[in-house]
Amino acid sequence: MTAKIIDGKIYSARVREKAGKQVAILKSKYGLTPGLAVVLVGEDPASQVYVRNKGKATAEAGMKSEEIRLDVSATEAEVLEVVHRLNADPTIHGILVQLPLPKQVNETAVLDAIDPMKDVDGFHVINTGRQAVGLPAMVPCTPLGCLIMLKDTLGDLSGLNAVVVGRSNIVGKPMASLLLAENCTVTIAHSRTRDLPAVCRGADILVAAVGRPNMIRGDWIKPGATVIDVGINRIPKEDGKTRLIGDVCFNEAVEVAAAITPVPGGVGLMTVACLLANTVTAACRQAGIEEPEV
Ligand code: NDP
Repeated sequence: MTAKIIDGKIYSARVREKAGKQVAILKSKYGLTPGLAVVLVGEDPASQVYVRNKGKATAEAGMKSEEIRLDVSATEAEVLEVVHRLNADPTIHGILVQLPLPKQVNETAVLDAIDPMKDVDGFHVINTGRQAVGLPAMVPCTPLGCLIMLKDTLGDLSGLNAVVVGRSNIVGKPMASLLLAENCTVTIAHSRTRDLPAVCRGADILVAAVGRPNMIRGDWIKPGATVIDVGINRIPKEDGKTRLIGDVCFNEAVEVAAAITPVPGGVGLMTVACLLANTVTAACRQAGIEEPEV
C-alpha cells in the first residue's frame, strides 16, 4: 500500500482563505478588524521564524498584526506588563506569547495572565478546562489543525481507535480530548508506556507528538491506519545546514498507512492557519456576533 499524502499546503490554504473571507465580512458589515499580537522574548532563531510567519499570515488575511519584541533579559514583570496592556487593548483580539520563554520568566504565570477570551493559543487553564468538559473554548492550534485534516480524510471518527503518543499540555492532551469528543476510543501513550509498538499497532488513527526523529517505525503501524505526524525535528546535514523530519519514519510508514501527513508540509502549516481561524473566532466572541458563514 502507498499512503495518500495529507497535504498541509492544501488544507492550510483552505483555512487561511476562509479566515480572509470572514475578515472581509467583519470589516465591511461590522467595522471590526480582528487583531493578533505576538509577543517574542529573546532571539531564539526558530521562534523568530515562527513569529515572522505568523505576522505575515495575519497581515495576508487582512487582520491587524502587532509584534512585540522584548530582550532576552526581560523580567517576568516586564512580560506581564505587556500582556496586561494587550488584554486592555480593544483592537487586539488574540494574544500569543511565543514559547519557550527565558528561564527567569515563569511560563504558567504568563500564559495564565492572558485574558482567556484573547487566548488564541488555547493554553490558558480556563480554556483547557472548558474544552475538557465540552464547553466552547479556544482550542490549541496544532491539535485543531490535526482534527480538521482527520475529519476531512476519514469523515466520521466515531468508534475508531486513536492513539496519541505524547501527553504535553499543548499537543498530546488537547489532541486526545478532541478525539474523545469525536467519539474515538482514545489511548494516550508517553515515555512510561509499556510496549509502545504494540499500543501503536492498535491504532486506526495514530498521532505522534513526541519530538524524537523517526521514532515510530513502519511495523508499529496498523495497515490502513491514518497517521498524523506532529513532530518537528531539526537534523544537521553534511553541508552544515539543517533539515526537518518528523517523529514517524515516513519512508516506512507510507508503505503501511492509508494516509499520512508529511514533515515538512503537514501539521506545521495548519498550526499557523488555525491561529488565524482562532483569532477570527476570538474577535467574534468578544464582539458578541456570530462567526460569518463563508
Ligand atoms: P513535549 O516534549 O512537551 O512532550 C513530548 C511527549 O512525548 C511527552 O509526553 C513525553 O512523555 C513523550 N515521549 C518522549 N519520549 C518518548 C518515548 N521514547 N516514547 C513515548 N513517548 C515519549 O513536546 P511537545 O508536545 O511540545 O511537542 C512534540 C513534538 O511536536 C515536537 O517535535 C515539537 O517540535 C512538535 N510540535 C509541532 C508543532 C507543529 O505545529 N507541527 C507544534 C508543537 C509542537 P512524558 O510525558 O512521559 O515525558
